[in-house]
Amino acid sequence: MSTNGTDRRRHRRTARLAVVAVGTAVGTVVARRLGYGIGGNTVVRCRQGHLFTTLWVPGVSLKAVRLGWWRLQRCPVGRHWSLVVPVRAADLAPEVLAEAKQHHDVRIP
Ligand SMILES: [Zn+2]
Repeated sequence: MSTNGTDRRRHRRTARLAVVAVGTAVGTVVARRLGYGIGGNTVVRCRQGHLFTTLWVPGVSLKAVRLGWWRLQRCPVGRHWSLVVPVRAADLAPEVLAEAKQHHDVRIP
């Protein structure tokens, strides 16, 4: 009897983890379809308008405080901490995009 109950609880927890994993994967795919480079090198803009490239891996972050779509992290252009948000590469002029790609923060997620 009690063994069955334990098995059911363990199964529910596994199912919940699976839902979170699938949700993260789907969010990444949707963001990529929308033109964001989520899941790798992503162009982001800080609150002061600086553009730079960062490694943006959904669900994983060692160097930034995650606030949903926003992240608090160090801006390598202005050398300050700021909220940053991904920008669509397609929305940027080629020369602006090239400039953003020259600025890359530390290569850890
Ligand atoms: Zn900045």
